[in-house]
Amino acid sequence: MKVRFAPSPTGALHIGGARTALYNWLLARGSGGRLVLRIEDTDRERSTPENVEQILDALRWLELDWDEGPIFQTANAARHAEALQQLLDSGHAYRTTATGDDVRAWKAEHGDDRGFRGTPQDEGAIRLRVPDEGETVVHDAIRGDAIFQHVHIDDPVIARADGSVLYNFAVAIDDLDAGVTHVVRGEDHLSNTPKQLLVFEALGERAPVYAHLPLLHGPDGKKLSKRHGAASVQELRDQGYLPEAVNNYVALLGAGFDPERELFTVQELAELLRLERISKSPAVFDERKLRHINGIY
Ligand code: GLU
Repeated sequence: MKVRFAPSPTGALHIGGARTALYNWLLARGSGGRLVLRIEDTDRERSTPENVEQILDALRWLELDWDEGPIFQTANAARHAEALQQLLDSGHAYRTTATGDDVRAWKAEHGDDRGFRGTPQDEGAIRLRVPDEGETVVHDAIRGDAIFQHVHIDDPVIARADGSVLYNFAVAIDDLDAGVTHVVRGEDHLSNTPKQLLVFEALGERAPVYAHLPLLHGPDGKKLSKRHGAASVQELRDQGYLPEAVNNYVALLGAGFDPERELFTVQELAELLRLERISKSPAVFDERKLRHINGIY
């Protein structure tokens, strides 16, 4: 199994991100595979070197090591440009100066978003041509099949007029280049996955297996946030939690392990974690339980 953890350095490493990192690490270690660390810094305005350092520090504190990287997404620009050209040359992508508003206006009138499509020779941003009919199915290893009808997917912008690439495109190319076999990430990315699958398909490449982890909620059933207490790994460290306790507790959140058992070594966790066992429902992060586990360590 070759997996990756691909944080955007736009802030600290949050507990949800730490769980994604941990699950990828456990899957790599449990399968004798490899973990790639990729820093997704294409959002140049919000990505900072301080955030990169903070994320790397948090991973080191949790003792989650990686086998390749950190690979910076912006360092792969030449390869991104090459793949863009390939898509333009094969007619899978086109340029257009149409804005999102233009597309929506056309759609309101004609019921589809296809009428504004330009050609590779036009000016403007590059969009991927989504097939007019049919559907893309995400065979999610945790959630089962999620079906996305093409009529509901707008042709995604994959590069701006200045050549800078956008997330759904860069991710697909980088996963392809790194030979990633399994993409394991938060459920908030599920709606992006069909667009990434369409990039693989347009390039005639085989896509990885996808698995989307359920969201983390607070004890009140709302999406986990600062309101619920410590939200980032740094905050947990500053509050005196031990990395072993954080890993142990975070790994249990929705992993489908024996609910009677509280303590696991990372070796045991790596042996036990299976994508198929992970729960589809949101898991609850309860700091009181973490405190309890921390007390036992
Ligand atoms: N960079 C994205 C994020 O931090 C994750 C992308 C991915 O895992 O595909 O949300």
